[in-house]
Amino acid sequence: MIIAIDGPAGAGKSTVTRVLAERLECNYLDTGAMYRAVTFSAMNTGIDLADQAALAEVAQSITLSFDGDLVFVNGEDVSAVIRKPEVTRNVVSIADAPAVRAHLVDLQRKVASQGNFVCEGRDQGSVAFPDAFCKIYLTASESYRAKRRVEQMTAAGQFVDYDQVIREQRRRDEQDLNREVGRLQKSADAIEVNTDDKSIEQVVEELEAIAKSRMAIAE
Ligand code: C5P
Repeated sequence: MIIAIDGPAGAGKSTVTRVLAERLECNYLDTGAMYRAVTFSAMNTGIDLADQAALAEVAQSITLSFDGDLVFVNGEDVSAVIRKPEVTRNVVSIADAPAVRAHLVDLQRKVASQGNFVCEGRDQGSVAFPDAFCKIYLTASESYRAKRRVEQMTAAGQFVDYDQVIREQRRRDEQDLNREVGRLQKSADAIEVNTDDKSIEQVVEELEAIAKSRMAIAE
């Protein structure tokens, strides 16, 4: 059983997906963390991030594993370092590389074949799991997404400029929506949920109701 949740950065995907997975007693797969982990590894090897063949080699040479929220590369816990701004800045080169994407999509399918999963990313319903029984496209308005980002960064003790957050968000959207392979898109059979003005609890409840109604149809 796969629930695929896609949507732009800042729509609240990570938080609600984790809670939803807990409620439904499913596993949780954060596919963005996979792209981040490959980025971190590629940066450590010092290769040219524009060299797609070298990026694919890095992706294939590392062992990615997961334990709840934790992400490991070759057994080393990288959960915190993959969220650093320098990784976020470089991840686009890795996410744009078709050979890396093919490898990670294979891995996502292997991982998800081991149980019931809520998978979160940009291409889960469209590319990785086109047959998922439940697909959700989680979105929010530009200002809400930016507001959330500002709140997160402020809580983490970082200085933030709202206008800069908006500029970066637009740049990321542009990259996510226009990549050649695996671009962010709402599958025709995905249900769109807008998270503006809703608490985490409200969104989780909405998603849980959608998942349960899809389960009832599938039974
Ligand atoms: O979701 P998160 O921001 O952690 O994702 C990190 C990067 O990986 C983003 O730039 C996003 O575009 C990319 N990504 C992707 N495909 C996915 C998940 C994330 O290209 N399935």
